[in-house]
Amino acid sequence: MLTPNEKLTGTTEQKREILDRLTRYRTDPRRTLRLAEKYPHLTFSTMDEVVADLSGPDTEVFAAGLELARDRFAALGQSELLPQERVFMAVASTAGGFGGFHDRLLPRRTPDDTQAPGYRYVQAAAVISRYGDRTGITPAAPGMVGADLLHAYVHDCCHFLTFRSYRLGADDGGYGIHRSQHGINFRRASGSTYSSRDPQGSTTTRNLGVIMEGAFDVDATTVTREAVTKTGLSCPPGGIDHHAFLDAVGEVQAVPATAPWLESMNGYVQGINAPYDVFLSEVGGPDSQELHEVIITATLGGNLVTLQSWLDERYGPGEFTALFRSETYAA
Ligand SMILES: [Zn+2]
Repeated sequence: MLTPNEKLTGTTEQKREILDRLTRYRTDPRRTLRLAEKYPHLTFSTMDEVVADLSGPDTEVFAAGLELARDRFAALGQSELLPQERVFMAVASTAGGFGGFHDRLLPRRTPDDTQAPGYRYVQAAAVISRYGDRTGITPAAPGMVGADLLHAYVHDCCHFLTFRSYRLGADDGGYGIHRSQHGINFRRASGSTYSSRDPQGSTTTRNLGVIMEGAFDVDATTVTREAVTKTGLSCPPGGIDHHAFLDAVGEVQAVPATAPWLESMNGYVQGINAPYDVFLSEVGGPDSQELHEVIITATLGGNLVTLQSWLDERYGPGEFTALFRSETYAA
């Protein structure tokens, strides 16, 4: 079982082996994600169950957004969305906390970050959480659960639809499968990636991982903004709800971090949203919207030709390499 834009390379026998290995991880994602072991304090439902349970403005905004998302992905040539039964949502906790797009799921961040929320390509599944105060003291503003879920879901649909090519042999994360191309990024068997990390504190980015992540969030928040407008949902006046609403519609700024959720949101804004925005205006100028479209299309389809010629037309031949290729990768 492969996702729509995954590709296997090698001999028929090697492809068979990769497919078998991935299938083993993907057949029963709840088991291979080891949810009970990794998050003993959390109770998970699948997203289809959560969606069936929504009501009022939450249902309205989510349903409107799902339709907009289908149209958007269809325009990008994609007809399949991440199956909702493959999205595991933390819906209750014995440790309180606050759920939603910027919930880290664990009280502390693990060093390898494999327990952070989001899409897991090995299992082709996602682990996220339902928005709101898990102590149940402060109910979420009407529509917030639906809007935050829409943000998370469309974002992870982008991950699900990202081009990935696999090769057998070198080990990549302990699965015995090497992911040689991921969207518009490349990785050698040695592990060196095409683009290097940005310097600490950088306000822009030339890192392809950050660029793809930022592009996904632009798409997810655009869909959410349109859904919110369509259903007439307005921004809650205060609390985390206020910032979470602005975050879900792509209008958030870093704010004083009075809660872990906001701290995590600030980290994402400073590490992903803001640098991607600056990158788009630096490289795209007045055509930054067009550049975003070209990036998303290349990331899902795995074909860089249009992106490369878009850059070449403006900056001369070889601009993709000049902008993004690290010296270690070139060597
Ligand atoms: Zn992401």
